[in-house]
Amino acid sequence: MKIVLQNLTKIFPSRNKKSNEEVIAVNNFNFEIPDGKLIGLLGPSGCGKSTTLYMISGLQKPSSGKIFFGNDDVTELSTENRGIGLVFQNYALYPHLTVKQNILFPLQNLKGKDKLDKDTMLKRAYEAAKLVQIEQLLDRKPSELSGGQQQRVAIARALVKMPRVLLLDEPLSNLDARLRLQTREEIRRIQKETGITTVFVTHDQEEAMSISDMIVVMKTGLVQQIGKPQDVYDDPANLFVAKFLGTPPINVFNGRVKNGTLYIGSDAVMNIQPVPDQEVIIGIRPEGFVLSENGALKCKPVNVEVMGRDVSIVSTHDASANPFVRSIINADNKVDVTTDFVRYDIKPHKIFIFNKETEERIYFEVK
Ligand code: ADP
Ligand code: MG
Repeated sequence: MKIVLQNLTKIFPSRNKKSNEEVIAVNNFNFEIPDGKLIGLLGPSGCGKSTTLYMISGLQKPSSGKIFFGNDDVTELSTENRGIGLVFQNYALYPHLTVKQNILFPLQNLKGKDKLDKDTMLKRAYEAAKLVQIEQLLDRKPSELSGGQQQRVAIARALVKMPRVLLLDEPLSNLDARLRLQTREEIRRIQKETGITTVFVTHDQEEAMSISDMIVVMKTGLVQQIGKPQDVYDDPANLFVAKFLGTPPINVFNGRVKNGTLYIGSDAVMNIQPVPDQEVIIGIRPEGFVLSENGALKCKPVNVEVMGRDVSIVSTHDASANPFVRSIINADNKVDVTTDFVRYDIKPHKIFIFNKETEERIYFEVK
């Protein structure tokens, strides 16, 4: 089922009585989440991800704007009546109940015409447990499970009511690195198998990029960009998005455009059009550098880090906004860090320029 967010806004009143500074946690969010897709809601801590999710769930009421599930306006509907499954960072299982009882819990609370008989409930609980592959653990207590297993129970409990929408708020944050990787793939598999429209909140760009059909990048309550992960990575709308996506992160330089030439410091790296003369911010993805004897960009090499298939050349440049410039080069290349300079050509589709004041993208063509 599709979810429509229409001018969705949440303003929290000031916590401090002396100041009247209210917090605009979510600022005029508009988006139609397509049916059956997994959407990654991504941004740094405090940007309004959880607040957006809580409004979709009904746990928080919007200050203004509307939410539709399909064609139904659910803005005023209570959480229980929205048909959602919710999973949080801290698994929030009942410690005194077994896994089976935890999963059964939401079904036992169904009332009126939704009430199920015992056999149906057990069958549904078993199916949910099987979907997340914990059917062997049904008689254990949460304390007898690993973090990853506990989170699977929480997911099973969210799925057992066969929700129309699955909402996950940083569900992997409490897991160690390897389990995080494995569990995110599991979530993707379950989402594909069930076809439930899912919103997955995370501050981890790699996590969001790897499992989402589409990502929404937020900053201070404002949506910055929405698109397929690869499209947003390849075509960031502004400096914030360019910097937020990618590991190692994009290299940022101070530069300028003069007479159709793009300069990084005194290095004339590219001829571009049609951009008027101005100072700009330049971003180059680490994979955008090509070692070249006559390359226009001259960096001072510091170190080469081995990454297996690739190497990362760490260098410096006077116009770099960061202490180091990091390029990723195929390990077959021989790099001599004792030389004065490494010289690079830049792949045109891996370099972005941004307005120095607004930090919005400036589009150009290579001459
Ligand atoms: P995220 O999940 O992206 O880290 P949140 O949605 O939790 O961000 O918070 C967004 C902003 O709203 C933050 O500035 C946060 O301090 C503020 N905020 C969240 N909940 C409340 C609340 N109940 N009262 C006041 N301010 C809040
Ligand atoms: Mg949050």
